[in-house]
Amino acid sequence: MDCIFCKIAEGTIPSKQLYENEYCLAFHDINPQTPVHILVIPKLHIGSADEVTEKNSVYLQKIFEAIPQIAKQAGLTGGYRVITNCGEDGCQSVKHLHFHILGGKKLPENMG
Ligand code: 5GP
Ligand code: ZN
Repeated sequence: MDCIFCKIAEGTIPSKQLYENEYCLAFHDINPQTPVHILVIPKLHIGSADEVTEKNSVYLQKIFEAIPQIAKQAGLTGGYRVITNCGEDGCQSVKHLHFHILGGKKLPENMG
């Protein structure tokens, strides 16, 4: 499958990685929208939040267990925002589930 994030997970496309476990990987976004902009992806190909099922939801559990450690490693002591864009209306551009961790400044209240 031609999926950029599967390739990043395999290591065939390089990334500025900051965390990894058996289930997920976190790396810096190539085009940061905030002073700190990290992406967390499952190592399994899941297309989007809309493809989460009872069979693959352990990856979500593991990602959310890792997020506090990733945020701490990135120095996000003042808080942060976790976002996943889903489908066309959600403006999802990479069709492999990923969570944006945004922070490093006070973020705008408006989310859409
Ligand atoms: P989406 O719009 O799908 O929610 O977010 C995709 C994100 O992936 C974007 O913020 C984009 O900058 C980032 N991105 C796309 N390709 C690459 C890549 O090859 N490496 C990294 N590190 N980030 C990428
Ligand atoms: Zn993938």
